[in-house]
Amino acid sequence: MWHWDQGRLAYFQFDALRQIAGFVKANDFKTANRAQLLAETGLTFQAPPTHSPWRNYSRILKICLLVSEINGVAQPTPVADVLSQAGVVTCDEYLHFLVSAFTEPSPALKDWRPDANFRYSLLFSLKYLLTKVAIGQGSITSLDEIIGAYKMSGFDGSEDDEEFISIMRTDSSYKNSGRSVPSELRRQALESLKVISQISYLHIRSGEIIVTLNREDALNIFKDLFEISGPRANDREAEIQRLASLFRDGSTNITFDYPNTIVEEVVESGFREGSKVKKTHVTIERNTRLRKEFFLVHPTATCDVCSLDTAKTYPWTERIVDLHHLLPLSSGTRVEATGTTFDDLVPVCPNCHRAIHRFYDVWLDRNNKKDFKDTREARAVYQEMKHEFSGLII
Ligand SMILES: [Zn+2]
Ligand SMILES: [Zn+2]
Repeated sequence: MWHWDQGRLAYFQFDALRQIAGFVKANDFKTANRAQLLAETGLTFQAPPTHSPWRNYSRILKICLLVSEINGVAQPTPVADVLSQAGVVTCDEYLHFLVSAFTEPSPALKDWRPDANFRYSLLFSLKYLLTKVAIGQGSITSLDEIIGAYKMSGFDGSEDDEEFISIMRTDSSYKNSGRSVPSELRRQALESLKVISQISYLHIRSGEIIVTLNREDALNIFKDLFEISGPRANDREAEIQRLASLFRDGSTNITFDYPNTIVEEVVESGFREGSKVKKTHVTIERNTRLRKEFFLVHPTATCDVCSLDTAKTYPWTERIVDLHHLLPLSSGTRVEATGTTFDDLVPVCPNCHRAIHRFYDVWLDRNNKKDFKDTREARAVYQEMKHEFSGLII
């Protein structure tokens, strides 16, 4: 069973990793102090006063392939290079790469050896989920079922779709097997699955991952996934750099064209044209399952910008409301201990939603940017749009 760095979910959020990547590019994390980290990343990096942040947090940075220790300094990787630039890479691209590169044992952890029998536990997990959708066996899977299937199948994650189909079961034996994994290991595996649920077509709630893809798209993504292997480096720190150097290599270059996310839909949403960061944004907003659950928890019909109550205005409808995602355009959904959070979503009427995206285009053009620098900036620009709105607020 695979190890992870448990209890640090907030630091694994894509937007947090982008901030950390910027920090490791500019500073030696190994000698960084907490105040400096807080000022530059907005993250507290809590630890006993006797410990350096490096001692407590280097494991996260290594698992995420952002940094390794070379000649006594925290050396940023090519992944940190890319992540530190806004609008260059999306949460989906990054997480699919991490899924393809993460192994048991992991070079971020002590039990790694170059000649180990590597298993791609997260790649297995994603392929398992995609196979279930592709064969019509369901889009909702418990985390324990994934862990149990990994344990019982003995697969290393490199197997093809036919092989995955052969291990699918409809009874509860996988789920029961997952539950019986020693609790510390099980918790670590569960947390890593929460991290990958930031991918735009996944979300998580009460111990289950939900996939919002049709069968064809699920199979297409499966066929685009390959483990990152190749001759291993001699030591863990060099191996982290080697893996990171393969990011965005041709073999891992998946084009993310999910159903509902063709370029026209991006334009339809009010963006002038469809870059991949804008597509990621629209994929989340058009995630039908996420939408359904949002309105179950927040059964509103009122627009956050113009205050139009669409249920009153159009009394023959329940609501005519879109969801707008408040994080930077390249971000995935944010996951907390209890599941995917709805805090980053606001209900808006279709007119205002189009207007928000036009506003974003103008703002990004004016500032010569492809994406917002961080969550704070994205939220501030949304507030700015609301402030400039000059229609009638009912
Ligand atoms: Zn409105
Ligand atoms: Zn939007």
